[in-house]
Amino acid sequence: MINLNKARTRMPEQDPAVRTGNFDEVATGYTEEMAIREALRCLKCREHPCMTDGCPIHNNIPAFIEKITEGAFEEAYQILTETTSLPAVCGRVCPQYLQCEGKCVRGEKGRPVAIGALERFVADWHRHHAASEADASVKQEAEAAGSGSGAKAAVIGSGPAGLACAGVLAEKGCSVTIFEKEEVSGGVLAYGIPKFRLPAEILEQELANLKAAGVRFETGKALGKDFTLNDLEAEGYRAVFLGNGAGQSLRLGVPGQELEGVLPASAFLYDVNCKNEYPDAEKIAVIGGGNVAMDACRAAVRCPKAKKVTVVYRRSPAEMPADPAELKEAEAEGIEFLYLTGPVEVVGQDGKVTGLKCQKMALTEPDASGRRKPVPVPDSEFVLDADCIIEAIGSRSDNACADGVDLSDRGLILVDEESLATSRPGVYAGGDTVTGPKTVIAAMGAGRKAGAAMAAYLA
Ligand code: SF4
Ligand code: SF4
Repeated sequence: MINLNKARTRMPEQDPAVRTGNFDEVATGYTEEMAIREALRCLKCREHPCMTDGCPIHNNIPAFIEKITEGAFEEAYQILTETTSLPAVCGRVCPQYLQCEGKCVRGEKGRPVAIGALERFVADWHRHHAASEADASVKQEAEAAGSGSGAKAAVIGSGPAGLACAGVLAEKGCSVTIFEKEEVSGGVLAYGIPKFRLPAEILEQELANLKAAGVRFETGKALGKDFTLNDLEAEGYRAVFLGNGAGQSLRLGVPGQELEGVLPASAFLYDVNCKNEYPDAEKIAVIGGGNVAMDACRAAVRCPKAKKVTVVYRRSPAEMPADPAELKEAEAEGIEFLYLTGPVEVVGQDGKVTGLKCQKMALTEPDASGRRKPVPVPDSEFVLDADCIIEAIGSRSDNACADGVDLSDRGLILVDEESLATSRPGVYAGGDTVTGPKTVIAAMGAGRKAGAAMAAYLA
């Protein structure tokens, strides 16, 4: 039986007026009946472009969805775990419209199958019904494999790449330690993605699974500051994975950016997500048009003192790189958008921010690459009132810590494409530190790939 409804099964969510007063997850998830109804929209296409062209890690989408239609949710979960380490995370934060759902055949005449929502449902179902049993067996398997007595491997960074790599290495019986520079484990999953998109218990469960498999975590330990690759070698680590991400926010580079109240998005999100600390500000301006800007503005609107949140973006909505669904959510939450507007200067008084001087922009005709450039409109300057300014204009990796590892001109780690081995023997790298900022799923895929190559190297 196929559900021919062109519309997808709607996932219940908190009302915008309610949710801006809390950090609880916005979308509350499918019930079993909803998941089966949505799964029945899948045509089980022979070519399954969702899987081959859409999903970067080639999850077996038609197979796991078919299991949902049968009510065999745990079997659906087992199919997913053949290729993914973090289904509960990816089901929530993948840009599905660009990936699996973007290639779904049902999207040609209606809405694509809600693959991400179904993946999330299956992972949540497993967490609520089968996780503790599974954790016990993971622990037993790890003990049987002699976890802790196998070859020593170090993983730098506990974001999606590092967690996925550690998971694969632990499965193969290696003794794995993850070194995390922050006091909190999880990397971008802990401090970059707000809880209303990725609740804390999802990450806690993933971390608990790894601990049950024998993986050790050392937090507050930064490569290049607290230890070096040579130190790790001297301590008997025979392989190292560099998954240190791209957590360094780019700065605006305009006068006044040093004033109190100007925050890089990474620092703002870290304080909100990990410390429950909020800026003492009523009017918050967020600069940027990507997904980090969306996370920042939506977190800002939930800050206890916030009365008005404005996003300043120098191009038009058509050029905005943010996920359209996130943009819609942000608009529903009352966030204002100033398009074709660029920052010129941060203005302030007594060392504190009081506003953002902006100018209107216009777009040129498309150049040879088809891109339209924003150019300032003369005499169009104005000051936007703001007592906090969040810069969400991009980030980069800091790989100076990777001594003896070759870097590209852009400072990214160079790796062999097949094995993700770097120029330094025994050292592998993957995720944003190699590619520049990309998606959670791309980082996780790289971590799994490197983990398999490292295990083979150690064997
Ligand atoms: Fe889609 Fe991401 Fe799941 Fe792949 S991992 S099927 S892209 S939600
Ligand atoms: Fe199902 Fe869409 Fe994939 Fe076809 S393309 S198998 S309809 S999810």
